[in-house]
This record gives sequence, C-alpha cells and structure tokens, in this order.
Amino acid sequence: MPELPEVQNVCLGLADTVVGQTIARVSVRRRDIVHGPSKPTHLLRGQTVTRIDRLGKQIALIGQPLGRETSPNNPPCICIHLGMTGSLRYYPKSTPHKPDNHTHIIWHLTDGGRLVFRDPRRFGGLWTFDSVTSLNQTRWSKLGNDALKITPASLHAKLLRTRRPIKAALLDQAVLAGLGNIYVDELLYRCEMLPMRLGCDVTRRESQRLVRQMRSLLGKAIRLGGSTLRDYVDASGQSGGFQHLHQVYGRSGQPCPSCAQSLACITVSGRTTVYCENCQS
Ligand SMILES: [Zn+2]
Repeated sequence: MPELPEVQNVCLGLADTVVGQTIARVSVRRRDIVHGPSKPTHLLRGQTVTRIDRLGKQIALIGQPLGRETSPNNPPCICIHLGMTGSLRYYPKSTPHKPDNHTHIIWHLTDGGRLVFRDPRRFGGLWTFDSVTSLNQTRWSKLGNDALKITPASLHAKLLRTRRPIKAALLDQAVLAGLGNIYVDELLYRCEMLPMRLGCDVTRRESQRLVRQMRSLLGKAIRLGGSTLRDYVDASGQSGGFQHLHQVYGRSGQPCPSCAQSLACITVSGRTTVYCENCQS
C-alpha cells in the first residue's frame, strides 16, 4: 500500500506534468469509485489544474474554472486515495495507453496527454469537492497532522492520550497522517523502541526522537522514489528504490543489521510486525 513517500512521489510527478494543464474531457469508466459531496460528474472537466496538495496518503487535485473568477481563493478540487493498489499515472501524447478493466478514470488533457486512475482492488477512490475549504473541513479534518509536519509536542500530546501500543497509534491516520506498516516498523527500529510499548508511556524526549527519525526516514525514502513491494509506480511509471534499504520490514528471521540476532515477527493490533528483540527494548 502506498504510504507517504510513495504518495509524495506521485504528487511531485503530477506537479511536473499535469499542473498548468486544462482538462478537456473526463472518461468515467467505473462510476462507483467516485464519491460526493460534489456532483460525481464534476471531476474538474473544463478546468485548469493549478496545484497538487497532499495530506498523509491522500492527494488533492486543485482546479480553476476557465474564464470564471469564481472563488479564486477557494477553488474546486478532487481528493484521491490510492488505497492498496491504486495508481495515478500521466501518459504524454507520444506514449500509447490502453485502458483495461481496472482503468477507472481518464482525464484527457489539452496537450494530448492523459492522466489515468487505475485501481485493481478498488480500496482507493475519488471524492469531489466544490471547494478546498470543504475538503479541509470534512474529509481532511478527520486526519491528524501530516507525518512530515507534526511537531514533537503535538505527537507527544496525542500519544499520551492512548493506551494502545505505539505501533497502533502511529498507524492511526487520525493521530498522524501518512505512515503505514512499512514505515512504522522502520521508524520504531531506528528509534530502538518496542512496537508494543504503550503510547501513553512514551516520554517527551522519545517523542522528539520519533519526529526527528521520522523526518529523516521519510525524507530519504522520498529521495529514493519510495518503496515498491509489488506494484507501486509513480506518476511516470517508475518504481521506487527504498525497498532495498528496509532494515526490518519484510525481513522476519533475517539477521538484524545492527546486532545480527534474528529479527522477530509478532502481530500488533492485527498487523504483522517485525522488530529486533535485542535492539528495541
Ligand atoms: Zn538488533
């Protein structure tokens, strides 16, 4: 499942290719993946994409109606969640693209290129909003701070309020937006912290360490194009490279990179969790 670094790479790709372009028409091949509150037929047809926003693992395409100065400070937008297997790819005019059964939406751009949303397992989807404010006040108001922006004080305050294991708290998008199973396991390893440690036991100093390590981990993963486990590709179809630098995720039973003891595998809050019993205590 794409997490913050992968979604950020999709956003960077869209900023390079789609921003500034006008959407000539939209083919909706599967209607039930498009949700309100705005009209599902909306999808920014006839609008220029002015910027791409991101909160956690969700993407927003911000539009601007052509020749209309309606709410220039509060433009319409589409929120896109890639779910488990979703992708958002740009195909320039010169690159052929053949839709298949999993191709749900195609935005035809005025430069002849296409932006394609494809999602075989359909855990992702699109939400249309009349304004960015509406997105922020509804769907995005349920999310915590973005993992790249949260302060140590804010994270500490949120952890103090939960008796769940730290792993479960960090996966909860209402606490912190952007992390999933890969980056939580990697983060806790880097912080030498046990995944089953209770959130309310985490000290202020440890929260500072969590935030510092999280920025460094996510920054590195973004620079390497994110992690590709099965099918993640960015907006231009490139796979990531950070999976080669995972220290614990997916490495159960293999030696710990630091102490060489076999990495342990347990289930925390229903999620497979790999950690080092020796280094994380
Ligand atoms: Zn170790």
